[in-house]
Amino acid sequence: MLAKALVNREIPSGGLPFAVGLGVFNVATATQIGQLLPHKQGVVERVVTVTGPGIGRPGNFIVPIGTPIRFILEQLGFEGTARHLIMGGPMMGGTVSSLDVPITKGCGGLLILNEHQLTSEEQMKRYPCINCGACVDACPMMLNPCELGRLANKARYQEMADRYHLNDCFECGSCSYVCPAAIPLVQYFRVAKSVNRTRAAAV
Ligand code: SF4
Ligand code: SF4
Repeated sequence: MLAKALVNREIPSGGLPFAVGLGVFNVATATQIGQLLPHKQGVVERVVTVTGPGIGRPGNFIVPIGTPIRFILEQLGFEGTARHLIMGGPMMGGTVSSLDVPITKGCGGLLILNEHQLTSEEQMKRYPCINCGACVDACPMMLNPCELGRLANKARYQEMADRYHLNDCFECGSCSYVCPAAIPLVQYFRVAKSVNRTRAAAV
């Protein structure tokens, strides 16, 4: 989407930016290339944003790669568990199984929830699709998350890719966010992509 908006080049379906002569880097990566490449050094630290209602002292911190999340949170007075943590942003981030998971070069943020925001079993209840179309309206890639979700339910993963452009989904989470039936669409799509990748690698 950035490529299209900024330089009017469209990355082909299933392709990467270099297919149209582009590299897309976030600001932190671009900065580190300038700082480290002349010295032939690899990435050793990154800026991590720690924020959310569950943390008393939010901020941006320079953290060595490999630092356990537990250590960072202890410095900030955090007393919760891994249940309170989302690694990444609110839409695309994921849960972690343990606070001992280390910071990697791909981790730019930690979102800390408080006790009230943890999802109860009642809230996790999902309902049948009511064909409202909200997910279709929300998808920036003009996909049909509703149909993709139906196929995912039947484990028709290859059909999702072949007929409904599953691989163009960049997992922004907008479809899941707006779904009134609380269907975890983007989670379905991640599973589908992963299964397709595994099957392709096994051929
Ligand atoms: S997660 Fe994928 S399908 Fe859902 S809105 Fe984002 S790009 Fe579209
Ligand atoms: S937003 Fe949810 S309920 Fe509405 S069409 Fe999409 S999947 Fe179905």
